Amino acid sequence: MDGSYNIAAIVLAGGRGKRMNSDTPKQYLRINGYPVLYYSLKAFEDSCVTNIVLVCGKGEEDYCRKEIVEKYHINKVKAVVEGGRERYHSVFNGLKMVKDSDYVLIHDGARPFITEKIIQDNIDAVIQKKACVTGVPSKDTIKIAAEDGSVAQTPDRSRVWIVQTPQTFATSLIYSAYEQILQMPEISVTDDAMVVETVLKQPVYFVMGDYRNIKITTPEDLQVAGSFLDH
Ligand code: C5P
Repeated sequence: MDGSYNIAAIVLAGGRGKRMNSDTPKQYLRINGYPVLYYSLKAFEDSCVTNIVLVCGKGEEDYCRKEIVEKYHINKVKAVVEGGRERYHSVFNGLKMVKDSDYVLIHDGARPFITEKIIQDNIDAVIQKKACVTGVPSKDTIKIAAEDGSVAQTPDRSRVWIVQTPQTFATSLIYSAYEQILQMPEISVTDDAMVVETVLKQPVYFVMGDYRNIKITTPEDLQVAGSFLDH
């Protein structure tokens, strides 16, 4: 059924990764000899998505094209484009390149452990629901802090999910939501589902992710990632 749709993937690698304390942006650091970014590109290459847009830092386009896309034969990459100041600016730059698609998966290039199953489950879900977010039920109790550092709220843990990527949408829907949110500078956007929730007031449905689908953010995440590949 997927074959009749044009399904795009946007892979984001436009961040500086300041929390990694490394001169090399985290998406280019190596796990088992391959750049972090390679793993998610390869997962999309081997999936049923039609094409991939890679969003990277300003001036890193040639490096990504030669040292990642061409070197590892990621043939579905149809464009490598420059990112923006914040993640949501980078997403919008990617979205402009995939306007002809029916559906789009938006994925953090810093999450190397995306699986074939996560991709396929997102595609199956988006065809039914139009807006989906990958996540896993929280194992920990989550508390919301008040400004003075006290506990303001403790949400019912059985309904708390940790959000991952990909986040997957009907392309026309997410494009229009992003166009509108970019006119609202007062809103701080941390993920794509939030754009749809805020602007379109449309439901976004969870797709079960994987506890291994971590985002490489700090140095210990690289050690965890290495251990996943050893097992
Ligand atoms: O900074 P954070 O870890 O939330 O970034 C999540 C993903 O978004 C990373 O893959 C990062 O490269 C990407 N990003 C981006 N453009 C930005 C900031 C982050 O593409 N301006």
